[in-house]
Amino acid sequence: MDVKQIDKEYVANTYARFPVQLVSGKGSLVYDETGKEYIDLGTGIAVNAFGVADECWKNAVIGQLDKIQHTSNLYYSEPCALLAKALCERTGLKKVFFSNSGAEANECAIKAARKYGETQKGKDYNVIVTLKNSFHGRTITTLSATGQDVFHEHFTPMTAGFVHAEANNIEELKTLVKTHKCCGVMLELVQGEGGVMALDKEYVKQVETLAREENLLLVIDEVQTGNGRTGSLYAYMKYGISPDVVTTAKGLGGGLPIGATMLGERAENLFTAGLNGSTFGGNPVCAAGALSVLKRIDDKLLEEVRNKSEYIFNELGGAKGVKSVSGLGLMIGVECEKDAAEVIKNCMARGVLVIKAKHKVRLLPALNIPFEQLKKAIKILKEECEK
Ligand SMILES: *Cc1c(COP(=O)(O)O)cnc(C)c1O
Repeated sequence: MDVKQIDKEYVANTYARFPVQLVSGKGSLVYDETGKEYIDLGTGIAVNAFGVADECWKNAVIGQLDKIQHTSNLYYSEPCALLAKALCERTGLKKVFFSNSGAEANECAIKAARKYGETQKGKDYNVIVTLKNSFHGRTITTLSATGQDVFHEHFTPMTAGFVHAEANNIEELKTLVKTHKCCGVMLELVQGEGGVMALDKEYVKQVETLAREENLLLVIDEVQTGNGRTGSLYAYMKYGISPDVVTTAKGLGGGLPIGATMLGERAENLFTAGLNGSTFGGNPVCAAGALSVLKRIDDKLLEEVRNKSEYIFNELGGAKGVKSVSGLGLMIGVECEKDAAEVIKNCMARGVLVIKAKHKVRLLPALNIPFEQLKKAIKILKEECEK
């Protein structure tokens, strides 16, 4: 059976896949169909927070599978309630809406911002400012929020009500807020798909101040940066701000689909019964897995994440063939003198999986990757940049 051939024939052509079929793994090691071993520094795009087939996560998921796999939101379910409680206790935010993906988590945040504008200032205050070079998802509305024209092509008309400001340019943001009837600001603190660019701390503080002055809902998209990825539980904690809404997905589920929109004081009562919903949202199996992931992201693990991050920055920063290293925690972009695609291909041949972000090589290793495996993989990446 040629899986690659069948996939090419029957799966929609939306993905330019690497020529590898992944079949199994353990922790940060994964295996292809020939049994070849790889050290995985991509984790399925920051999803497998504790790697593959992690025992603790598996036990949580299988334990729930043995009870009930789905209830719908017509009924109460323990994993969903406990996960919401844990998220609120760890963040200080007040309530959580669960969905199944990052895009949906952001859709909910966008609804919250619009409802906030309507309630606070009137129905025509519905514009949300996002950043150029951002990425917020693939639905039509989250694509509209995404400040990259290439994503809008072919799918116009886009959802109205989004304007885009240059990152780290507070004056442009102020001008946009003054010239539009705005209800919210939404941004990623590290632009992931946009090339792993961390925003300036000072700028983010200014955005928070502006949001308060202009009574705008401050929405932080932590779909990729969340759940320990940047070395704090959520990246906004590192920036010292208090967002009104925080969205997350990717790593939260540890490998199963779940999205969460966390609503702070200004946003917790915007939704009433019937104003949003999701058939699968907060699914018991996904929520049980997510709860096990969240419980393990403690101070000790976060310190480990920061130490591994420092190691990577030290190894690759200023290395031969490396132009720059960007990002936060274990969300890192490496700008190489060589073409990123070639470096990725050569790493793959030598048993290391890394992915791309714009023109950079992107590293998103498991939070608990053993140091020895990380060292081995970074050595290979470094050599491939040097060549
Ligand atoms: C991946 C990503 C999304 C979209 O998440 P999906 O689960 O693919 O819908 C949204 N925002 C950011 C910042 C992301 O990295």
